Amino acid sequence: MTDRSTSRDDELRRRLCLVEDEIAAACVAAGRSREELTLVAITKTYPASDVASLAALGVTDVGENRHPEARDKREELEDVLPGGAHMPRLHFVGGLQTNKAGQVARYADVVQSVDRLKLARSLSRGAEAAEREIEVLVQVDFGGEDAGRAGAEPAEVPALADTIAELPGLRLRGVMTVAPLGADPASSFEHLARIGERLRQDHPAADIVSAGMSGDFATAIAHGATHLRIGRSILGERPPLQ
Ligand SMILES: *Cc1c(COP(=O)(O)O)cnc(C)c1O
Repeated sequence: MTDRSTSRDDELRRRLCLVEDEIAAACVAAGRSREELTLVAITKTYPASDVASLAALGVTDVGENRHPEARDKREELEDVLPGGAHMPRLHFVGGLQTNKAGQVARYADVVQSVDRLKLARSLSRGAEAAEREIEVLVQVDFGGEDAGRAGAEPAEVPALADTIAELPGLRLRGVMTVAPLGADPASSFEHLARIGERLRQDHPAADIVSAGMSGDFATAIAHGATHLRIGRSILGERPPLQ
């Protein structure tokens, strides 16, 4: 191992420790246990070697937002994953075109960004063709200044979820949101948790509430998130326009 990768390992270890400290503090403040939470390290724009380092540090779940970057990194990871480290589960968290869904279905373990029926159907066909089962979250949009973003409206969630639950190759696991720009994330996260609760009345296995990124994960922990998607705080600032 070169000096450079050693120092990057050290940096990732240090940053991950700091994030875990903040998660622990937010858990104490919210009266929750760390075991209720899954950290999904968002590794977009960063190389497979970083994913390998995080896996060696015990990170079990990673996230990507673009195909084919996600696919290529996964293939490379097979070669660079250190012995003894488990292959992390891959969450696809980005906007997804219907015509790419079949390819994403070949390698993603979870697709967090399903916001329309056509995409769900396409993923289902892809999962069936690949003889895989994919966990799916319904991405919900709570409006805000950056309108027109990805995500189903809250009122659309029950019907979309019911359909996903019926589609072969897909397993409905819950809901996800990105807090709108310029709005208080607490109200979005609270609303998301309520939508998730309602969903579980009909779909008990849909117990994932994915909320919280580098800037707002403590708020998400306070409002019932089960999955945190943290990129920059662990890996560092990304270059602009990524
Ligand atoms: C990039 C991204 C994240 C992580 O954001 P950070 O600010 O880097 O923590 C989380 N969720 C989605 C959907 C993303 O695209």
